[in-house]
Amino acid sequence: MNERICDFCKSKESHKNPLITGNNVCICKNCIIASYNLLFGTENHLEETKTDQEMDLKVIPPKELKAILDDYVIGQEKAKKVFSVAVYNHYKRILQKPKEGETEISKSNILLIGPTGSGKTLMAQTLARALNIPIAICDATSLTEAGYVGEDVENILTRLLQEANGDIERAEKGIIFIDEIDKISRLSENRSITRDVSGEGVQQALLKIIEGSVVNIPPKGGRKHPNQDFIQINTKDILFICGGAFDGLNEIIERRIGGNVLGFHHQKNAKTESKNLLDEVEPDDLVSFGLIPELIGRLHMIATLDEITKEAMITILQKPKNALTKQYQKLLGVDGVDLQFTEDGIEEIASIAVDFNNTKEDIGARRLQSVLEELLSDVSFEAHGEPVTLVVD
Ligand code: ADP
Repeated sequence: MNERICDFCKSKESHKNPLITGNNVCICKNCIIASYNLLFGTENHLEETKTDQEMDLKVIPPKELKAILDDYVIGQEKAKKVFSVAVYNHYKRILQKPKEGETEISKSNILLIGPTGSGKTLMAQTLARALNIPIAICDATSLTEAGYVGEDVENILTRLLQEANGDIERAEKGIIFIDEIDKISRLSENRSITRDVSGEGVQQALLKIIEGSVVNIPPKGGRKHPNQDFIQINTKDILFICGGAFDGLNEIIERRIGGNVLGFHHQKNAKTESKNLLDEVEPDDLVSFGLIPELIGRLHMIATLDEITKEAMITILQKPKNALTKQYQKLLGVDGVDLQFTEDGIEEIASIAVDFNNTKEDIGARRLQSVLEELLSDVSFEAHGEPVTLVVD
């Protein structure tokens, strides 16, 4: 069959840029969009479909990836490095397909171990956005083996496809972030009774897609049923990032390492010790925790994140490109409020967040949002155009 080309820009017909034919001329989707924008101006501007090269995959060196993360994620230096290298390796592997006889680089999925609200999801989201790659984020506790009440593991792929605007090729090179992977351990007490009895079934189902397989998914999600059309997604080039707090893992590591860390000073330095201990994690510790060895074997890169301290909260409030204080300033600025924070004010917000984390559930830096929300909700309600200055001191 002859390859058709657009008579206007001469680009070839493709899945991403289909052609419309009429009276012996062809026009591609991008030229239609360009004509539309020309006719109707910038107000109703439509986005052109990007070509493969423009779309995403550039191999960005780890140092540059880390610099992007630095703009948004405070601290977590070790994790940012491991993460940048893993993402770099992954996309290098996809873009530099081995020729015959050459060694194929194996996929390096990532396991992020760190407390809730320490920046695991934020890291994944930041890089996905920077690389213009679709990302689907889900919670392992909501997943089930097919047939149980809950969400089938395969639905994550439907979600990724939706994030890729239905573009299968793009979805097949995307990122899937699965949070709370520790909660589906075989030994977990947080298991749902509607799921399989051991949690192991969900791990097996996840393993199947992480290993790389062709999966039939219902295009709109939900349960599979026999009379439905399926879309096939190959998961071999999807980067899987799993995250979890792994409460209790330090005790397992401590037991393995044995007497070294036990002793007179241990209790006093419990927090520092536990931080260092997680860095010593080995696959066997994760097996003892209740993950199946095959799944651990697929998560080649392990990075640990530190607990968010009060000092880190102070920086998180101000420094990231999209820092919460900047967001509120912008939001309230629209209503004529000139919002300012003094150093004392910032420190007090961080203190309140730490206190709440100590007395309620510890949700890390996520707590800052609710503290600010509570602090500023009345202002948001009252503000309506009269220019005022508000100082949080
Ligand atoms: P989790 O580790 O549970 O995945 P998230 O990445 O979702 O945590 O963090 C929740 C929110 O807390 C983020 O959206 C961000 O506002 C803030 N946050 C957490 N950790 C950091 C960090 N290291 N640097 C900057 N912001 C952070």
